[in-house]
This record gives sequence, C-alpha cells and structure tokens, in this order.
Amino acid sequence: MSSHYNFIKKYLVENHVQLVAVSKMRTDEQVMKVYDMGQRIFGENKVQELVAKHQRLPQDIVWHMIGHLQTNKVAQIASFISLIHSVDSLKLLVEINKQAQKCNRIIPVLLQIFIAKEETKYGLLVEEMYQILEYYTHEKNAFQHIEIKGLMGMASNTPNTAQIAEEFATLRSLYLHVKESFFPLKSTFDTLSMGMSGDYKIAIANGSNMVRIGSLLFED
Ligand SMILES: *Cc1c(COP(=O)(O)O)cnc(C)c1O
Repeated sequence: MSSHYNFIKKYLVENHVQLVAVSKMRTDEQVMKVYDMGQRIFGENKVQELVAKHQRLPQDIVWHMIGHLQTNKVAQIASFISLIHSVDSLKLLVEINKQAQKCNRIIPVLLQIFIAKEETKYGLLVEEMYQILEYYTHEKNAFQHIEIKGLMGMASNTPNTAQIAEEFATLRSLYLHVKESFFPLKSTFDTLSMGMSGDYKIAIANGSNMVRIGSLLFED
C-alpha cells in the first residue's frame, strides 16, 4: 500500500493535482497508515462516518464531503468541513450558507455536475447549474458564507475510455466557461474535481486538478 501511495502521489505532484484520499469504509488503522505517509486531505461520502472519523482521528486532517448530502445533515458537518464536493441543488446551497453562518465561517463548495451517460449518478444538469449560478450572482448578499470554488463530476462506469475522456473534457470546458462568465476576477474559483481510482489518469489528461482516490490507495 505504501508503494502505491508514493507512486500515485509523485504522479499527482508532477501534474499539480491535489489528492483526496477516499477513506469511506476504511478502518482508523488503514487511514492512519496513509496519514503517516503524509496525506492530510481525506474524503468521506456519508455524514455519520465523516463525523465519527473527524472526532476520532487527528485534528489536522482536512475533511472533504464527496457524497450526496441531505439538507437535514449539513448542520452536523458545518463546523469543520473543508470542502463539500457534492452541491446538487439550490436548496442545499442555501442550507450550507445558513449553517456556515451559525458557525461564523465560510464553507467552500463545488457544484456537482451530471456528466455520465447513466441514470444512477447524482448531480446538476447544465441548465440547473446555470440557474443556480445566476441566482447566486444576483443574490450575492444572501450567500456570504459560501464560496463556490469549482465543479465536480463523475464519469460513466464503463470500460470505454474514449467515452470517459469525452465526459471529462465536457466538464473541463464547462468549468472554464463558468470561471470566465461568473468568476472572472476570482482566482478562488480554481478547482476541478474529477477522477477516481479507475479513471484518474484520463481525468488529469482532461484538465482535472483534484482527484478522489479510494480503492487504489487502500487495497493492496
Ligand atoms: C468512493 C468514491 C470515490 C473513490 O472511488 P475509488 O474507485 O475507490 O477510487 C470517489 N468519489 C466519490 C464521490 C466516491 O463516492
């Protein structure tokens, strides 16, 4: 496992890509092995597990929420979450802002975009994303506790690498267009989260600067 970590990490550093180590369903001992190799950013997809691990594990871990987030659970993570990758509705964005305000902080978020050609994945349609961005831009004062830092997407689960590359390339163009149209002066809109164990190299070749890798890091 350690050789995997160092190998992947070297490749990511060379490509200026950030690593989110996806620790869902892994034991504290497994997480600590990767932590001891120097990793500090970890991602979870369930609130309950995220909260429990945040309480038990070292306080300098930077936690990312990468899975579908229900509005009624935002309060449980608002005080400590460093990045929410999975904003997929205006309602959720409003609730994150509200809970961030209660904690007197700004929560960085990504909008999750539906790019896969399959029914099962969460995410915003492109039109929905534009509606949210227009509302956000128009009502800036209502979102003082949110920082939209970029986009996230998951490609189809398919062996067809050309299709995966095409889906990632589509998200990259969208990201660049949104950056130019809605955040022209803001260098803080700078994050494109795409790529997992099976497709991270394709994602990076298509402009990803943050990958979420689980099985490749934690399985021997
Ligand atoms: C589990 C998960 C990952 C990591 O998947 P692996 O194939 O184990 O690398 C990435 N992103 C999300 C949203 C996940 O739920």
